[in-house]
Amino acid sequence: MSEGAGGRVSRGQLELLGTGTSSGVPVIGCTCAICTSDDPRDQRLRTSAALRFCDPTGLDRIWLLDVSPDHRTQALKSGITRCDAILITHTHVDHVWGLDEVRRYNAIMESSIDLFAESNAIETLERIYEHIFHAHRNANNSFVANLIANHVTPGKSIERHGLRMTPVRLLHGRLPIVGWRIDTVDGGDGGGLFPMAYCTDVSGIPPETYAALRDLKTLVLDMLRFRAHPTHFTVDQAVAHASEIAAQNTVFVHMTHDIKHSEVDPILPAGMSLGFDGLRLPCAPC
Ligand SMILES: [Zn+2]
Ligand SMILES: [Zn+2]
Ligand SMILES: [Zn+2]
Repeated sequence: MSEGAGGRVSRGQLELLGTGTSSGVPVIGCTCAICTSDDPRDQRLRTSAALRFCDPTGLDRIWLLDVSPDHRTQALKSGITRCDAILITHTHVDHVWGLDEVRRYNAIMESSIDLFAESNAIETLERIYEHIFHAHRNANNSFVANLIANHVTPGKSIERHGLRMTPVRLLHGRLPIVGWRIDTVDGGDGGGLFPMAYCTDVSGIPPETYAALRDLKTLVLDMLRFRAHPTHFTVDQAVAHASEIAAQNTVFVHMTHDIKHSEVDPILPAGMSLGFDGLRLPCAPC
């Protein structure tokens, strides 16, 4: 037990492990100004995040929000050495094809890891990762992840480690997916981060979800590019929805190589900014 835990969640910090669209930026073989930019904020691994916090018993915890194909690189850069829960938004390749890598956390922690996702997402994961979810069929007793799948339903909260996670319905084109709202059970802000919501890969927000996104301190929201796209918010759409949700601090993710950080970030309204790989929220006051 660390001192000062006081039975409350503390030191909440959300690190953006990746902020790029499905191809990542630079895009393979592209020589555009952004793909060749020497600004590190223009280099984007695939979108995912790590939520670090100290639980009410004083234990340091890390939850992952999606596990991108870049997870190994992201974990090494970020210094992630444990995983206490995995929250899945949807099963597109750029969000879950790093799941195999979490076997290292199983080995370090000598325990299974709870994974939280909708039933259709769990069915897909069981098919993609048959060697994990049906390990008894493997020919050899090899080094595979040990995951426990927990089925979730939008609007129904689950409490773990002093936090309350609530999946909220989002539309990703015609595909219904979830974002995640996370509150402390104790009602505090855990050091300035909570309540927070993580809403990537969005092109539409149903009315009931707006109600579930009230009073946020921190919002992570999808913003693909300026031109229209059938399954993601444009810059204008993202800003409009962020204005309506009105979180204290909104950070945008999942950008393509049309977005130059140094040009787009300054034109965003107050309280909104572009995310970049390695950004940790809440930002230190500047
Ligand atoms: Zn995506
Ligand atoms: Zn490019
Ligand atoms: Zn997607």
